[in-house]
Amino acid sequence: MVEARKCVRCGSLYIADTEVCGGCQKKDGVDLYKLKGFIENQGNHEITQNELSVATGISNKNLSRFLNYDEFKDICVEQKSIAASTEEQSINGISELL
Ligand SMILES: [Zn+2]
Repeated sequence: MVEARKCVRCGSLYIADTEVCGGCQKKDGVDLYKLKGFIENQGNHEITQNELSVATGISNKNLSRFLNYDEFKDICVEQKSIAASTEEQSINGISELL
């Protein structure tokens, strides 16, 4: 039984045993192609995930996912150096809504 999953990329629900929905699989493919191309060109220089994001235009959220793939495991990237998510800021202020 395959359960409905929420796409980590666009948030829509889909039913498939894949990491993202069908539409986002194509976007993932484009991003992975850019990422591989960039890595081939930059050689073995160390680069942070944030620098990778700026250089490739791929969001940090998606990069975090890609860099866990086996094929990218050997890349010298500081994966844990990203500042806390801005989403936390929206939690404050809810208590005064009523
Ligand atoms: Zn999606």
